[in-house]
Amino acid sequence: AKSSGRCALSFFDPTMQAELLARVRLENELSQALANEEWRLHYQPQVDQEGRCIGVEGLLRWQHPERGLVMPGEFIPLLESTELINPVGDWVLEAACQQLAQWAHQPGFAELSVAVNVSPLQFRQVDFVNKVESILQRTGAPSHRLKLEVTESLFVEERDDAREKMRQLKQQGVRFSLDDYGTGYSSLAYLAHLPLDQLKIDQSFVQQVIDSKANAAIVESTIALAQSLSLEIVAEGVESDAQQAWLLAHGCQAYQGFLFGQPMPLDVLEAWLRHESLA
Ligand code: C2E
Ligand code: CA
Ligand code: CA
Ligand code: CA
Repeated sequence: AKSSGRCALSFFDPTMQAELLARVRLENELSQALANEEWRLHYQPQVDQEGRCIGVEGLLRWQHPERGLVMPGEFIPLLESTELINPVGDWVLEAACQQLAQWAHQPGFAELSVAVNVSPLQFRQVDFVNKVESILQRTGAPSHRLKLEVTESLFVEERDDAREKMRQLKQQGVRFSLDDYGTGYSSLAYLAHLPLDQLKIDQSFVQQVIDSKANAAIVESTIALAQSLSLEIVAEGVESDAQQAWLLAHGCQAYQGFLFGQPMPLDVLEAWLRHESLA
């Protein structure tokens, strides 16, 4: 009786109960967000060595009726723990492909690639390959402009299954980028056996290249190794001219970060692109 009393006591702990209620409420709101059309895709430019925009990364936002624009850090973990990430991930893919299909006929936009983040849970769905193929068909998006960003954690378990799905999607023209490189457990030597096209150096390394010799050495050897494996290199989180200059000097091919542009809604991005192409 004493132990169950203690259990009951901790369950009705008022702060814990408040947290639990807040979480349940958030989960309910998230499950309604799709039907209420509250998801938004913002786009952050990626530029080449000359500063020309070559593509964008689509980043998810939640337009909450009361709280305004909510950032992914606040809801992605919950989506992933409830499997809601699957329908939301479908929405993201659909939105990105619709955009690609629209840009395909617009001069100045037709060459852009669109990258989207795919969570491991979403990628592991048995029908993931079919889903992507049917979205590509339905929207008419050029498949070779779609880039899927995956993380090292995808390859910790069921690596063969992931590799096979990548192979099938690559046959359709879809490209793959390894996101947040350097923050996981895998080594590049090991990842070299996956059909990757691109490697994104995590912003935690990029933001330290000037101040930390150790980080600079890591980035330098990562670029060299990627080059020898014919992987494209993108640096993310580039915030200063000094960082960009350092990366350029060390052979980095593409850049993404606040220095070039923040993630922005479609209309702002399109205005930004028109302005950039005139500059
Ligand atoms: P990520 O894929 O690593 O995306 C890059 C994050 O860094 C974005 O944050 C972006 O706004 C931010 N960022 C870009 N440039 C800079 C910079 O120069 N300085 C700094 N300090 N930050 C920069 P955001 O949009 O808050 O997204 C956070 C994470 O949420 C993403 O990290 C990604 O893991 C996840 N995420 C976003 N959209 C989706 C989605 O559609 N599906 C899934 N599964 N995850 C998503
Ligand atoms: Ca990403
Ligand atoms: Ca990243
Ligand atoms: Ca990240």
